[in-house]
Amino acid sequence: MALHVMDEANHCLGCKVPRCQQGCPIHTNIPEVIRLLKANKLDEAGRMLFENNPLTTVCSLVCNHENQCEGHCVRGIKGAPVHFSVIENYISSTYASQMTQGPAPSNGKKAAIIGSGPAGLTIAVILARYGYDVTIFESHDKIGGVLRYGIPEFRLPKSVLDDFEYRHLRLKGIKVRPNTDVGKALKIEDLFRDGYKAIFIGTGVWKPKAMGIPGESLGHVNYAIDYLVDPDVYDLGDNLVVIGAGNSAMDVARTALRKGVRHVSVFCRRYQTAASVREVDYAKADGVEFYYGMRPSRITDDGVYYKKVEMDEEGNITSTSEEQFFPCSSVIIAISQGAQNRIVSTTTGLEMSSHGLLATDEHGHTTREGIFASGDVVLGARTVVEAVKYSKQVAEEMDEYLTKRREK
Ligand code: FAD
Repeated sequence: MALHVMDEANHCLGCKVPRCQQGCPIHTNIPEVIRLLKANKLDEAGRMLFENNPLTTVCSLVCNHENQCEGHCVRGIKGAPVHFSVIENYISSTYASQMTQGPAPSNGKKAAIIGSGPAGLTIAVILARYGYDVTIFESHDKIGGVLRYGIPEFRLPKSVLDDFEYRHLRLKGIKVRPNTDVGKALKIEDLFRDGYKAIFIGTGVWKPKAMGIPGESLGHVNYAIDYLVDPDVYDLGDNLVVIGAGNSAMDVARTALRKGVRHVSVFCRRYQTAASVREVDYAKADGVEFYYGMRPSRITDDGVYYKKVEMDEEGNITSTSEEQFFPCSSVIIAISQGAQNRIVSTTTGLEMSSHGLLATDEHGHTTREGIFASGDVVLGARTVVEAVKYSKQVAEEMDEYLTKRREK
């Protein structure tokens, strides 16, 4: 792998105006990181990556590189781009394995983080760097959010998250309360009572969107986000239909094949997929079959009834077929998720937006003083790097808020 990494590094032209950096949503200083690696300064390169992006190792594995850094690489215009994802993965994982530094000096202020997905983890790491006493409240038994309970092992090994927990949380003195669903026994008011001066909400979108068609409550029908939490507990039979064509649908389809389902058919509403080209290519290579223009109308014990639509290039429907039947042993619905409102409904002063998400201003302030939010619960279902990007700004806002409180 090292030889390949150095080949990729040597392929970089070190452009004065680095399009790759512009294409990265968090503007990773790619030419400088590569320069440091080539100068045998891996430590400095690793530090630079982690300071800019606490989730650099995760991003090296799950970002949509072909649309971001690699898609903007000038080398890619006439040939293969520099595969920075491989370089980033090598540097960040090597550097992480040597990180042993303990907590920053304490500033005596407590901050609470609700949710340990990319948003909560980014805030926790940054506030801990500034000396805050940080506690994470997580409803699952382990940290990571979708990184652990959505994205399958074959795309993102759980060991990356275990290592993150050890090096970035435990060694830095960040406390984690697993299996703690804020909004049930513990409410936001309890956290304020117990001395947390600012609270961050990064609870993501975990409420599956229903299709609202007959048959959705049958025993062989499930939702993607529920299935991906623990695929081993499901018996899907031999023929699975996945309704939806986003990245979650690809993860369901590919996981199901690895868990023994023999045929997986993805029903796409349109004639293109919402999932990235790379994920669709992998799904096809794995043996997943795609059906386009599929509009399911009802589900029975034996399969899915649907109408097939034809569309013109603008996406307008030009014809609709009679209802047809597609036999299958199970169905997984993967048409996105929305935010749960347990915290909002148990907290005075917090409001939802008109889109059913948590309402904030552009700096991450919710409608209640001292409570901040970012990630999917504010933006809707997005990406890891977007959650990191927004959370970096919100962490600075929280620090400013807490600093002002200190001066009062
Ligand atoms: P989440 O990751 O959802 O984390 C929220 C956390 O809050 C969870 O741990 C949850 O248990 C916890 N929580 C919720 N309510 C409470 C509560 N009341 N109390 C305590 N804890 C609570 N993005 C990419 O960039 N690349 C990909 O390849 C990719 N693949 C994806 C595959 C799937 C199946 C899905 C669903 C999404 C994928 N995404 C991908 C999107 C990406 O994972 C999300 O945008 C990102 O995880 C959002 O981060 P977050 O921290 O806002 O929320």
